[in-house]
Amino acid sequence: MDALIFGGGAAGLWLLADLTRRGHSALLLEATALGSGQTVASQGIIHGGLKYTLQGLLTPAAQQIRDMPGLWRECLAGTGFPNLSQTHVRSQHCHLWRTNTLASRLGMIGAQIGLRIAPQTIPESERPAALANCPGTVARLDEQVLSPASFIADLANQCRGRILLVDPEHDIDFRMSQANAVQQVVLKNGAEQIVLNPRWVVLTAGAGNARLRERLGLDPARMQRRPLHMVLARGTLPAFNGHCVDGAKTRATITSDRDLAGRVVWQIGGQISELGVNQSESELMAHAQSELRSIMPAVSFDDVEWSTYRVDRAEGVTSNGSRPDGVQILQDGNVLTAWPTKLALAPQLAGDLASRLGPPMSTPFDEKIFKDWARPSVALPPWEEPGRVWSSLEVRSSLNRSA
Ligand SMILES: Cc1cc2nc3c(=O)[nH]c(=O)nc-3n(C[C@H](O)[C@H](O)[C@H](O)COP(=O)(O)OP(=O)(O)OC[C@H]3O[C@@H](n4cnc5c(N)ncnc54)[C@H](O)[C@@H]3O)c2cc1C
Repeated sequence: MDALIFGGGAAGLWLLADLTRRGHSALLLEATALGSGQTVASQGIIHGGLKYTLQGLLTPAAQQIRDMPGLWRECLAGTGFPNLSQTHVRSQHCHLWRTNTLASRLGMIGAQIGLRIAPQTIPESERPAALANCPGTVARLDEQVLSPASFIADLANQCRGRILLVDPEHDIDFRMSQANAVQQVVLKNGAEQIVLNPRWVVLTAGAGNARLRERLGLDPARMQRRPLHMVLARGTLPAFNGHCVDGAKTRATITSDRDLAGRVVWQIGGQISELGVNQSESELMAHAQSELRSIMPAVSFDDVEWSTYRVDRAEGVTSNGSRPDGVQILQDGNVLTAWPTKLALAPQLAGDLASRLGPPMSTPFDEKIFKDWARPSVALPPWEEPGRVWSSLEVRSSLNRSA
């Protein structure tokens, strides 16, 4: 086998599809549900880098990501590889608006600093209803927003025979060579046991990479976590996807979808979710409501329920704990540990990993040997998780109480 991949989020599944197309013999092992961890909890924006240029500079992060929207657009249209035509695209673009009083430079930033996608300032008549009364400039940005759960399902359906559900703590043994490379991986399925001899072991398990590295005798501290406390709102809300920027900060990033009952659900990130890390759920919900009322005066939040979820971004460690500029790959013998840093960068990560693997050298394995093995399902989006508590907390009353 050429590659044994651990973890079926955006990174692992894109890699599996890519390697299979290149003729590699590859198998993916998933511990729980595909995309659990970050991908299904993410906002699904295929960033083109604008967010990383708000200081007016073409930063290394912006340079790395600027080709991604074009590549994804082809995949989502069914003309690129992998074919993602079954992935639900929530929106073809995001809106961008400012709340500070400085003259807006929207429409110029991206063009000046060499992004592939520049924001286009739009006239008042074309504004979405949600931004009707906003005083500043409003722009449209051709960054697509997709449903991460449907993207994971789409990719997984194309590789089903090469994806297994395996408990990594109990059903996997690693046998190391004297040179400290992984020589064999033993997979157990009840009484059945299969011994694999992978040329490469690739860890794309998000936050799970730390534990896998520990089991392989590698330093788990090469990974960092950056926590977020995200807000969910559901009810009588307009469908909306966009960023509210203030200076060089993204004050709020809002993406929307529909839940199984047909209600519009907003996922709210940006600074709200970063500041929210140190807030309780009720503090964060009250803060989010007051922020949203201030930046979107045209939207009524009277008939809305609120909830929050905590999730960590998992990445390779940086010297000061800040966001890495791009994809990260560590190589230890025949083990590659990888983090895309962004969902949008999953294709680039897969390409970089495939280059490290070199040409295919193993004969394809017979998928029938795993015919009785369990297969993982796709993780549920945060708003569908069973047991989630929703609150109809009224911000004005809670602010009055604390005044
Ligand atoms: C709230 C939030 C919003 C975001 N929004 C965006 C956005 O809009 N646009 C963007 O580009 N990026 C966004 N990101 C970043 C993006 O989601 C991540 O960079 C990307 O999804 C990481 O994918 P991954 O496959 O590396 O990890 P994950 O999605 O975390 O997947 C890891 C997988 O590995 C499995 N696993 C764990 N341990 C093991 C093990 N021992 N063995 C086998 N399997 C294991 C997990 O169950 C999971 O399926 C966001 C992140 C967060 C947290």
